[in-house]
Amino acid sequence: MSVPALDALPPLRDVLAGAGLSADKRFGQHFLLDLNVTRKIARLAGVGEGQAVIEVGPGPGGLTRALLETGARVVAVEKDPRFIPILHDLAAAAEGRLTVVEADALEVDEAALAGGPAAIVANLPYNVGTPLLVKWLTGPFTPVSMTLMFQKEVADRIAAPVGGRDYGRLGVLAQALCRAETVMDLPARAFTPPPKVASAVVRLTPLAERPPAALVETLQKVTAAAFGQRRKMLRSSLKALGGEALCQAAGIDPNARAETVPVSGFLALAQALDGGA
Ligand code: SAM
Repeated sequence: MSVPALDALPPLRDVLAGAGLSADKRFGQHFLLDLNVTRKIARLAGVGEGQAVIEVGPGPGGLTRALLETGARVVAVEKDPRFIPILHDLAAAAEGRLTVVEADALEVDEAALAGGPAAIVANLPYNVGTPLLVKWLTGPFTPVSMTLMFQKEVADRIAAPVGGRDYGRLGVLAQALCRAETVMDLPARAFTPPPKVASAVVRLTPLAERPPAALVETLQKVTAAAFGQRRKMLRSSLKALGGEALCQAAGIDPNARAETVPVSGFLALAQALDGGA
């Protein structure tokens, strides 16, 4: 039997119906079946000919198709075994540029999968979106870039400016390591089945000058304490870590509250804590 080319593949709805597949809530499945939408995400990711991409949660493969159309080489990591056969059909059409891996993305070694530098692009399952982002921010594998769909509320926290309600631990961590911007909003109705909330795509680009891993660990300790009691002044919320003396060593006002301290201020606090340890 001959293998169809990428542009001759049947519509995603037909692929799902043909395989008798429907979304399973346990895997956070909300599919993008409109190729115009997935092509836009691939464009926003800025990947192209010959570049390596890791995609998490390809499901029926709509985003995977769009990524392959750019000429990229894709390693797709999917936990739900039901989708593996249709992803293998897609791999056959992609003539060697798609590798399908059945695994939990929380467990995989990205460096081994990609065999070199790679971008990560994904419409993430909501239930594991934040732990996956933290893994890619702080783990041993630093992606070239990340273009990731989250529920809107999480996207807002990742890209939150200092001083606002959404500014917190996740935003400080992401912005200490990456430039983070929301590049696309999507209403719930764009997905099949529609989730309860809207979504957004965040693009994260690692900073050229990144704090070392040990400092990032201390940074997380400081932000956990500071935002754990976000209404309190730092002199009180950071008491166990040195309180007023720590703030003074870092050049930060001990009467400030966490949400008014910029990312650079939290890094200074972490540095002071490490220096004083
Ligand atoms: N990329 C597809 C799309 O845009 O239509 C599907 C996106 S859906 C929101 C999330 C996908 O991630 C599902 O295919 C789900 O089975 C998969 N998934 C859920 N948890 C996972 C995990 N821990 N590791 C890998 N894939 C996972």
